[in-house]
Amino acid sequence: MPRQSTVAAQADKSVESPKDAAPLPETQTSDAAQQTPALELQSKSRWTIEDSEELYRINGWGEPYFSINAAGHVTVSPQGDRGGSLDLYELVNALKQRNLGLPLLIRFSDILEDRIERLNACFAKAIARYNYGGVYRGVFPTKCNQQRHLIEDLVRFGKPHQFGLEAGSKPELMIALATLDTPGSLLICNGYKDREYIETAALAQRLGHTPIIVIEQIEEVDLAIEAARKIGIKPILGVRAKLSAKGIGRWGTSAGDRAKFGLTVPEIIRAVEQLRAADMLDCLQLLHYHIGSQISAITVIKEAIREASQIYVELARLGANMNYLDVGGGLSVDYDGSKTNFYASKNYSMQNYANDVVAEVKEACEERKLPMPTLVSESGRAIASHQSVLVFDVLGTSDVLPNVPEPPDDKDPLVIRNLYETYQSINVENYQEAYHDATQFKEEAVSIFGFGYLSLTDRARAERLFWACCAKILEIVRQQDYVPDDLEDLEKIMASIYYINLSVFQSAPDSWAIDQLFPIMPIHRLDEEPTRRGTLADLTCDSDGKIDQFIDLRDVKYVLELHALKPKSNSEPQPPESQLPKTLSSQVAVSHSQSAHEPYYLGMFLNGAYQEIMGNLHNLFGDTNAIHIKLTPKGYQIEHVVKGDTMKEVLGYVQYDSEDLVENIRRRAEQALQENRITLAEAQLLLQNYEQSLSRYTYLSS
Ligand SMILES: *Cc1c(COP(=O)(O)O)cnc(C)c1O
Repeated sequence: MPRQSTVAAQADKSVESPKDAAPLPETQTSDAAQQTPALELQSKSRWTIEDSEELYRINGWGEPYFSINAAGHVTVSPQGDRGGSLDLYELVNALKQRNLGLPLLIRFSDILEDRIERLNACFAKAIARYNYGGVYRGVFPTKCNQQRHLIEDLVRFGKPHQFGLEAGSKPELMIALATLDTPGSLLICNGYKDREYIETAALAQRLGHTPIIVIEQIEEVDLAIEAARKIGIKPILGVRAKLSAKGIGRWGTSAGDRAKFGLTVPEIIRAVEQLRAADMLDCLQLLHYHIGSQISAITVIKEAIREASQIYVELARLGANMNYLDVGGGLSVDYDGSKTNFYASKNYSMQNYANDVVAEVKEACEERKLPMPTLVSESGRAIASHQSVLVFDVLGTSDVLPNVPEPPDDKDPLVIRNLYETYQSINVENYQEAYHDATQFKEEAVSIFGFGYLSLTDRARAERLFWACCAKILEIVRQQDYVPDDLEDLEKIMASIYYINLSVFQSAPDSWAIDQLFPIMPIHRLDEEPTRRGTLADLTCDSDGKIDQFIDLRDVKYVLELHALKPKSNSEPQPPESQLPKTLSSQVAVSHSQSAHEPYYLGMFLNGAYQEIMGNLHNLFGDTNAIHIKLTPKGYQIEHVVKGDTMKEVLGYVQYDSEDLVENIRRRAEQALQENRITLAEAQLLLQNYEQSLSRYTYLSS
């Protein structure tokens, strides 16, 4: 990845985690974590919230909205540094008491407002600084998040800045036309268009809108000319250019000659000639480009604006009535807080971005003595990401819990004795070699077992010994500045699995589809050391339904530091982990059941852009509950509750009629009753559960 060299990265990592550097003597903690010393991180004398801040990098990605309070809870300051804050953990508990179960998508409308304010302030500042002769009129690309409450808020918050909307399809145009009511704001019409789209957009001028129809395909020029003739309205037109400046990373192919959208330079010239011939060249007023989303390097942004500025001035020279330059999206979000050109980050600020756009356009126009255009940007990600937080609970964990092995005696098979000897010998000098030995002995055990020379019990012992070796080696590895390649996976192999009450496919589809990173962390217990390392497994029956890449200062990390689940204080005590049944693979014991632990809440942050609408119904897990929260002088207010899908609703999406389903079950129960296969009480319970489920949330309730 385009960051530091690995050697530097390795060295830095050890600095970054003071807990790895100096093993301090174990001290007390009372939670269940202490039962498995081999896999716990070395205990620091006292874990502080500052340690959590550093570990989860919350200041890097969260400022100024998210931080940690003295109670060890995540707090939200929706108005940034300008207003109060609220305790996210307490908020979730309060919402649960209102029967709003997890997973919960919590939207903070104040954050949305703050993002709009910031973007406009940055452009205003740049315009003043460079003495730019035009204005900024931003638009929000609807595709980023079309939820009604959000779009309505956007329009309302954007009024002071004449902030507009961008539509990329006919349905989005429908939303924009009916929702946008800010005089002077722009309605940018992108995407593939047919006659109806163009006519509707052009007619919207009569309603007081300022629709700009952006030609994305050369065929649309004729459609626009015909529509103008037919309805007798001169549309405002734009062209989308395919720049040769290429984006980088995931969306790098949005630009360049082979990009899906936009006109090549020869096509732009052709469009100009066609419009001139139709006596409509004065309609062409805007130049647009979009080189992709999450452009993490400022150099790429500069290169694009430089090229576009030249095309702009050339179009003016050819006689088009140029007024607007629309720089599209691409303004990044620093998901990992590293301030680098890594794909999950960005190496520039919003102000740098605005400065570069303003400065480049000004320079190009001044050179040609042209009036400076109104600057338009279509930032979606940068506006919508921060406002929503997804909170979900952990249902249970599966942990690798080796206990200290018992010494074998002379009658035990050689392979067991060898493994034990290896275990005993592990130290800082030989741990890498010991790992290879242990691996080899374990394979040997499996092979001997295959020939019938090792009992099932002995094979289980061999595997347990192997995991005990791994645990001991891992402890040493964690204290090293440099991890040998062949031991890099050890952390992953030994990680706990945290089962989360969530569908990744529904709530974080980009994490599954394109390995996008979102900051994830516990929202409470942050004054406690997270002694486990785990990956997250979701509710779906799909092995892809997991999260096993997390933000890190350099690149990514494959396990996340998490807390051991606390047994519920008022329930039966948990059996000691040594008494839990050992499966054949020996190392895994699902150590907590669903109800036996205190709630443990995780938050996924910065996921307000693209995730909701791209989410799908895999395994029929539906939309989550979504809550809109607004800060008030006294606290907060719940503005809207958008209940998540019920089972009935998701079944309806796949054409099942709930009443038919109930009727079907009722008939079968009746028949079973007739044939004495079920009791009346059982049949009643079954039907009652079935019917109640249909109107319930698709997620598990805790
Ligand atoms: C998706 C898209 C955007 C939004 O891009 P962000 O990087 O999210 O700001 C803007 N303009 C167009 C044309 C798009 O397709």
